[in-house]
Amino acid sequence: MIVCTNCRKEMVCCRTGVLVLFGTSHGYAGDEFECPECGNKTIDTNASPYQVPPLQVEAARESGRLREMP
Ligand SMILES: [Zn+2]
Repeated sequence: MIVCTNCRKEMVCCRTGVLVLFGTSHGYAGDEFECPECGNKTIDTNASPYQVPPLQVEAARESGRLREMP
């Protein structure tokens, strides 16, 4: 269970298959969760990164599932 630290409410999954991308090719697959009370969001990712081909990055961007890290 994922809990919002602000509201103490259980967060609900709002998007699956999110790609959290570091740099140009180092990514983690994850699901995005949202607090039903305050709208706070978080992403729960797999523990291991993988190398992401450029076509997969573009597909994730077009579907709104790309989260690029600074
Ligand atoms: Zn909240």
